[in-house]
Amino acid sequence: MTYDVVVIGGGPAGLAAAVSAKKAGADVLLLEREGSLGGILKQCIHDGFGLMRFKKKLSGPEYAERFIEEVKELQIPVGLWTFVTKIKKNPEGFSVWMVSREGVSELQTRTLVLATGCRERTARQVSIHGTRPAGIYTAGTAQHFTNLQGEMPGKRCVILGSGDIGLIMARRLKLEGADVLGVYEVKPEPSGLTRNMVQCLDDFQIPLYLSETVTRVFGEKRLEGVEICKVDEQMQPVAGTEQRIDCDTLILSVGLIPENEIAENLQVHIDPKTKGPVCDSSAMTSIPGVFSCGNAFHVNDLVDYVSESGELAGASAARYAKIQSVGVAQIPAEAEGEAAYVVPQCVRQEDVRGKVTFYFRCKRTLGRSELVVKTGSRVIQKKTFSAVRPPEMERIIVDLLKTEEIREPIVFELREVGA
Ligand SMILES: Cc1cc2nc3c(=O)[nH]c(=O)nc-3n(C[C@H](O)[C@H](O)[C@H](O)COP(=O)(O)OP(=O)(O)OC[C@H]3O[C@@H](n4cnc5c(N)ncnc54)[C@H](O)[C@@H]3O)c2cc1C
Repeated sequence: MTYDVVVIGGGPAGLAAAVSAKKAGADVLLLEREGSLGGILKQCIHDGFGLMRFKKKLSGPEYAERFIEEVKELQIPVGLWTFVTKIKKNPEGFSVWMVSREGVSELQTRTLVLATGCRERTARQVSIHGTRPAGIYTAGTAQHFTNLQGEMPGKRCVILGSGDIGLIMARRLKLEGADVLGVYEVKPEPSGLTRNMVQCLDDFQIPLYLSETVTRVFGEKRLEGVEICKVDEQMQPVAGTEQRIDCDTLILSVGLIPENEIAENLQVHIDPKTKGPVCDSSAMTSIPGVFSCGNAFHVNDLVDYVSESGELAGASAARYAKIQSVGVAQIPAEAEGEAAYVVPQCVRQEDVRGKVTFYFRCKRTLGRSELVVKTGSRVIQKKTFSAVRPPEMERIIVDLLKTEEIREPIVFELREVGA
């Protein structure tokens, strides 16, 4: 079996990639380790998905269904319950090994799209002391229990971390009758989208405590309580501020990490800032023929952007499968000033005469700010923002068509400009 494009991961990024590769005329296969398509959207039963793309407030499953229908209409073959375990480069492309209900098998493909999503950070990664009782879950696991299995994770819940999934779970647990005692955030400002702060906490009178964290858990078999502490400016617990809260459940919403074992095994360059592959403006990684999109590339806050990146990766993989051209030298894109990172990390020469979509995050919350896109001393484009916050990813389409030849890096400099 030889394909033009094999897409790994059937979440919104992988679905969009498979559809766009197929529409570009490629022979595509979509592989998903779970029993149905949709990725994490399957368990996101709240609304708010697709506002940009469909101008509608869809639930996660409704959003995914629109792409799943397209996959069916285009008759794209899908391998469910199929876990890709290993990939090796070969002269024509790649050998892919996978485990499915039929056993271990191997196939060949000219290109790969990695759309493996991200995973949640766990209690081990945030160093909480104490015993190891039941009742401590990541927000995604609690979401899976509540929304897909119909089981409540507990009755008296403390949420650690104000990331979006934690905020959404705070509201969900309250709606299902649990006491949600509060959301505790170690940083001095919330980590979630403003709309989720309002709709999930304020509307349900769930308190948010900033610069506070969980330092210890109590209980042998089942969680009985947690110790909360205030933290100083270095985010270190302040002695004497310890306070015990009785609860049976601790929900962790302490960050997402792109899932990239396959990319790492292929020796794809990983960006230490995003924890995802370094990609060019065609979504190609440092290994020619390997493309990355969605949360595997970098953690996105809106699914609309995830689908957009999947579409780019799928179309680019289909094109590469036909022409096998890597292109010539690439122009780096660099974040400066208050910009924390910018992706894609470089622009292909052939895209230098067109429009390229970039995404960036800021380092800290700023008021009115200006992004200046420049190369050397030449300003390419400017954009003003009324405010920027690290949880909210920003997008800018840069029109490189207007510029003369670019030889130096494209720099994205973000500065606060005041009222
Ligand atoms: C727990 C959790 C809850 C979230 N809740 C919300 C929310 O409520 N609202 C919101 O706007 N955003 C939410 N997000 C953000 C969400 O991840 C993105 O909006 C988007 O769904 C990411 O799409 P994706 O396709 O990149 O990844 P995913 O949706 O995670 O899809 C990745 C897919 O790849 C598959 N896969 C991974 N490795 C392999 C392999 N080796 N072989 C085969 N298949 C593989 C996985 O099974 C999965 O189906 C949540 C994220 C997480 C992690």
